[in-house]
Amino acid sequence: MQAIYDLVRDVPDFPRPGIMFKDITPLLADANAFAECIRALCDPWRGKGIGAVCGIESRGFIFGAAMAQSLNAGFVPLRKAGKLPPPVVGMDYGLEYGLDRLEIGTEALKPGERVLIVDDVLATGGTLDAGRRLVERLGAEVVGASVAIELRGLDGRARWVSDAPLHALVSY
Ligand code: AMP
Repeated sequence: MQAIYDLVRDVPDFPRPGIMFKDITPLLADANAFAECIRALCDPWRGKGIGAVCGIESRGFIFGAAMAQSLNAGFVPLRKAGKLPPPVVGMDYGLEYGLDRLEIGTEALKPGERVLIVDDVLATGGTLDAGRRLVERLGAEVVGASVAIELRGLDGRARWVSDAPLHALVSY
């Protein structure tokens, strides 16, 4: 996926000192590169009976919604605390600094439904792990996860304790 290497912009010290932020907006703005990226993200999951794509707020919505369309699956948002109307279930998780919380509508997934979890970047892995635990809490089956970018230095993959595959398009 050369387009990702070419079009994702490194922004040093954003949003905090010491963070190298991966800015995906130039990739999204390029019609061909974005389409190629969605195709490549979807390819491992075609024919796998994915019923729902769960995208993580907020950049996971962008990739996840496009993937849901391409995979002929529904889209379900995993949102930050307080954004979804009740009833919801939530999961607290640790970030590099502090705590955060993801929520999902309690009726958003059917028990046993085959689910793919999507985000833009895998860093420490806490966010994706919280998404997996939420989906499993609703009784759905996590078939796998996809991210566009994996930051290998933070070893987020070690926090993906599931047997389900975790795919990344590119890694740094
Ligand atoms: P983590 O839970 O540490 O794996 O962080 C992943 C989440 O934080 C994803 O939703 C990303 O959008 C965001 N994120 C973490 N680190 C970065 C980064 N260096 N550049 C862009 N987004 C990041």
